[in-house]
Amino acid sequence: MGKVCAVFGGSRGIGKAVAELLAQKGCRLAVIARNLDVAQSTARSLGAGHLALSCDVSSEQEVQKTFEEMQRNLGPINYLVNAAGINRDGLLLRTKTEDMIAQIHTNLLGTMLTCKAAVKVMIQQRGGAIVNVGSIVGLKGNSGQSVYSATKAGLVGFSRSLAKEVAKKQIRVNVVAPGFIRTEMTAHLEEDQLKKAILLGRFGEPHEVAQAVVFLLESPYVTGSVLVVDGGLQLMT
Ligand code: NDP
Repeated sequence: MGKVCAVFGGSRGIGKAVAELLAQKGCRLAVIARNLDVAQSTARSLGAGHLALSCDVSSEQEVQKTFEEMQRNLGPINYLVNAAGINRDGLLLRTKTEDMIAQIHTNLLGTMLTCKAAVKVMIQQRGGAIVNVGSIVGLKGNSGQSVYSATKAGLVGFSRSLAKEVAKKQIRVNVVAPGFIRTEMTAHLEEDQLKKAILLGRFGEPHEVAQAVVFLLESPYVTGSVLVVDGGLQLMT
């Protein structure tokens, strides 16, 4: 039987590419997002035996229900990927408190809640692997993204600490930190301008981040790491 993997934010973008790669490797996927129609269409595109669920990661109740559904339909979880995320870019002085809270709740609290639920199951299973999707902006900072950056930097501290808490239980926790990746989140950006600051001279593709995520999920001796997938952006800025 293939491994059971939950991909939060798996309906599109980076999460969808992760779900596709894991499905190709024989894993059984739970594709999770708020919009059930989109999640269902992604899960169907992966082939038979995958599950689509609607869940807002910022709601503890919804996260708990989602894990119960996954356990009932697919069995205990082996891999967790947190790719659900939002941005509300703007200079701090122009950022509304509700937009700060929305980013913190989705990007940071959401990951904490799914990790908590997954770790409970993984401890009983005597092992598992988690990858949280951070951002190069969480490591370098970016003007106009102070709150988003704080949530992504927070994920690094959270993931490293959790890696220390659960290592004895054979559970590994890692972070990927992508640069500019071609998804709905970056569709409005001027790639022609921004690519000048990228060593490889282009935005990345979702499947190129998925490769790094799957590498971390499958690497038995890697935990507490932050893998930068940015085409060399960090060397240029
Ligand atoms: P997309 O906007 O393409 O996809 C976001 C995914 O997250 C969707 O599946 C969306 O589905 C889901 N999602 C958003 N909010 C919630 C929520 N509250 N609960 C559950 N699911 C949610 O984004 P990307 O694929 O580009 O981004 C994926 C991750 O990668 C994010 O964490 C982002 O911050 C990070 N990242 C992206 C970069 C990029 O350049 N694209 C660069 C660095 C990091 P739905 O709306 O239906 O809930």
